[in-house]
Amino acid sequence: MALEPVDLGHYLNRPIACECGRTHFAGIEAVEISDGAMGKLADLIRRGGYQKPFIVADKNTAKIAGGQVLEILFTQGMSYSSFVFDDAALSPDEDALGRLLINFDADCDLIVAVGSGTINDISRFFSHRLGLPYFIVATAPSMDGYASSVAPLLKNNLKTTFECHVPKAIIADRTILAEAPKDMIAAGFGDVVGKYTALTDWKLSAIINGEYYCERVAKLTRESLERTIRLREGIAAGDRGAIGELMETLILSGVAISYVENSRPASGSEHHLAHFWEMRLLWEGGDPILHGTGVGIGTVSILRLYQMLLGDELDPRTFLHASALEKDQWALGIRKAFLKGAEEVLALEERVKKNDPALCQKRRMVIAEHWDEILRTLTTVPSPSRVQEYLQTVGAPFEPAQAGLGLRLVFDALVYAKEIRPRYTILQLLGDLGLLEHYAQQLIKAGDAHERQGEGGLRQ
Ligand SMILES: [Zn+2]
Ligand SMILES: [Zn+2]
Repeated sequence: MALEPVDLGHYLNRPIACECGRTHFAGIEAVEISDGAMGKLADLIRRGGYQKPFIVADKNTAKIAGGQVLEILFTQGMSYSSFVFDDAALSPDEDALGRLLINFDADCDLIVAVGSGTINDISRFFSHRLGLPYFIVATAPSMDGYASSVAPLLKNNLKTTFECHVPKAIIADRTILAEAPKDMIAAGFGDVVGKYTALTDWKLSAIINGEYYCERVAKLTRESLERTIRLREGIAAGDRGAIGELMETLILSGVAISYVENSRPASGSEHHLAHFWEMRLLWEGGDPILHGTGVGIGTVSILRLYQMLLGDELDPRTFLHASALEKDQWALGIRKAFLKGAEEVLALEERVKKNDPALCQKRRMVIAEHWDEILRTLTTVPSPSRVQEYLQTVGAPFEPAQAGLGLRLVFDALVYAKEIRPRYTILQLLGDLGLLEHYAQQLIKAGDAHERQGEGGLRQ
């Protein structure tokens, strides 16, 4: 049975009073997803009363859609300025922002970003700090950051999330999206699949820490996730309708982030793993992986941890005796795992003290008390093999080795990625119970055996 199609307009630019006690709002004024959506750009700029847009692209996105944008503006007799990053692989860091600023035309009153992840993150931050609105012209359905209000950037080498604003308009031409490279489309699907564990982790924190949780936003995210899963064959075949719906889900995920004013509904432990891998590959000069590719692989790994915990039949009465974290050893591990990002991570712990022994013990009491509810929550997601099958259908990797991620990188991510930010997930829960390293080792061992058997088409 098909789920009802989403009316995106219902969620945009209007306050929604919610049972959770908050009023949700996403200030995006227009989302145009259609064949030929690009033709609406000039009209949207005029309707907003903007005089001179500043177009931002990189070498690739300039070719895919940037040229078309400039041609439209030129034909319409609009004045504009533009800047194209000429990097082979653009990093969203201080250097990129500095170059953008020095090339900015101060007469411009609107930023029009042309691209996907990196260009969007840079332009969102840049426009926000300049106090200007921005539009995004999407070039691939590769991640869910289009409609989000936050920008993950590299600050002092460490991935850091900044509060910014949402775009005023998102223009997603399906003829452009459907022609995006297959691995980018598969990555977008991977980012969507990650919502399974993101939502469950969010719920875990609501149970254990009393963190704010909105069932309505969770439901909205879950339903659009399910709809996308059902369209996987069409997405794999490059069907424009299915790709357009994938884009809608990615946008809705960003709307959900705006609704709760943080990325909880869209990002949990699977994103910790993905962000960790992205950073380590960058520092070590390894082949980068797409964000959503890491999220898809991370989701399968996290679902395996869920299953291990469910299968262990632990006695909650033993939780209060769990071995406490060895602080010096932990700091040593952080230095090895985070390389040049280590100081930032250690400083974060000094500030937020998420591993404080007294706090951990307090959480263990709550975990023991709510153990049945926690186990029930972990059963609300599909099995890892099911999600593996979903990813396989769209041609996305699901084992770390398929994306060239070695065992050490996987182990370090499982044990240390949670230290990137103070967000409670299954990883911190396993840490609280003193099980994290043991589980990580078991997972690695299983993966290693799997790899040696040559199953799953793993890259050697
Ligand atoms: Zn709510
Ligand atoms: Zn993501």
